[in-house]
Amino acid sequence: MGRKEDNIKRATALFTKLGQIRNIGTAAHIDHGKTTLSDNLIFGAGMMSEDLAGKQLMLDFDEQESARGITINAANASMVHNHKGEDYLINLIDTPGHVDFGGDVTRAMRALDGVIIVVCAVEGIMPQTETVIRQALKEKVKPVLFINKVDRLIAELQVTPDDMMQRFGKIITEVNKLISRMVPDEFKKDWMVDAQAGTVAFGSAYHNWATSIPFMAKKNVNFKQIYDFMEKEQRKELAQAAPLHEVLLDMIVEKLPPASVSQKYRIPHIWRGEADEDIGQAMVNADPNGDAAFMVTKVVLDPHAGEIAVGRLFSGTIKKGDQMYVAGMPSANRVQSVGMFVGADRISTENVTAGNIIAVSGLRDAISGSTISSNPEMTPFERIVHNSDPVVTTAIEAKHTKDLPKLVEVLRAVSKADPSIQIDSNLETGEHLMSGMGELHLEITEYRIKNEHGVEITTSPPIVVYRETVAMQSPGEFEG
Ligand code: GDP
Repeated sequence: MGRKEDNIKRATALFTKLGQIRNIGTAAHIDHGKTTLSDNLIFGAGMMSEDLAGKQLMLDFDEQESARGITINAANASMVHNHKGEDYLINLIDTPGHVDFGGDVTRAMRALDGVIIVVCAVEGIMPQTETVIRQALKEKVKPVLFINKVDRLIAELQVTPDDMMQRFGKIITEVNKLISRMVPDEFKKDWMVDAQAGTVAFGSAYHNWATSIPFMAKKNVNFKQIYDFMEKEQRKELAQAAPLHEVLLDMIVEKLPPASVSQKYRIPHIWRGEADEDIGQAMVNADPNGDAAFMVTKVVLDPHAGEIAVGRLFSGTIKKGDQMYVAGMPSANRVQSVGMFVGADRISTENVTAGNIIAVSGLRDAISGSTISSNPEMTPFERIVHNSDPVVTTAIEAKHTKDLPKLVEVLRAVSKADPSIQIDSNLETGEHLMSGMGELHLEITEYRIKNEHGVEITTSPPIVVYRETVAMQSPGEFEG
């Protein structure tokens, strides 16, 4: 059996083992190395073929994305990691690092229980670091810290071991300052990051190594030895002595909660139905036998399967042919296929069960943010609050009159896939106003309309508008 087939077998064997699943993400200021980290974790865990690896960033599959070198859409991938003789399934969601895509980050957080906050050792805390920490804590997603690009401290700044320790200390203190300002009271003590406790790792995603205090103790290496490897530029030796994936995947398994633990405190926070309702109980216990409760965090277009709703299944089991209700829509949708992620591939499965990141086709009424249930009466999940509302607007027209009806369709599809895009159409004049989170966001959406949907358009220069904040659905800790 090939390595890939073997991984599929190991991953599928874990789908129902709640305690052995971690749903996690990475989040960072742009360019701090989140994509490099995700890519090398997946490679290190053996979840991608050798020829795909190298410097190709597999999560950056979007053509636009690699052209610009930033991650635009939260992508999904999963890894199997053996820890102390036991296999674990780690579902990883790569979140965008650019401020224009804040909406995608917030939605991705809803599906997660833990997040690796990546901070560049040279730049330190940047504005977007603060934003992603806030977004995680608002969703009760537990953070751990990875200090990246440590190689640059020596290669460019020639810092001494003492200086290096001080820099790490400063970053940890600043991260904890941010955490303590925003953390829910119940986690004030446990969710601070702490090098001794093993919730901090440092290293170089690019050179494929990382270490942490518990890892150094386990392998009987000390900081001085790590520093010497760096100083002598013995990168291969360092990656062998302190492999990135082993250190980080161990940290994920040991320090970030499984769904069976996290759903107990996350459900009352993201869902305001009656706690003693059956579905509430099913979600708190991540019960595969309860009603299905599925939160869609993303809708992706597949050239063969059409629209695919991706997100977190909090309770129940979904299989082909099931009738599902999309909150707010009058009639049921019939499930056409279900699947999960193994490596970066989506694979079809017979059914999908509670506690996992899943992919479902056939839910034609679903948009990013939808609540989907087998129970038509289910109270929807809390609205996902975005940090910013669309602020930049451009007027769009079809270049050729024959494309007028197609453009209406395409704009509908675009706003469905990305709810941070708002469309106001004047069907009489054929003019459409498209609003997004920033100029880059609009530019990329225009690129998609032209290149992915094949409609030639003309656009006006973007106008910045200031909108009033959308009213909140319910008061309380969700505001902000
Ligand atoms: P993202 O925007 O957070 O996803 O960042 P990327 O993963 O795209 O990385 C941004 C740039 O930093 C790329 O040119 C990477 O090659 C580089 N980079 C990432 N990690 C490291 C590292 O550990 N050391 C060095 N020197 N460069 C890195």
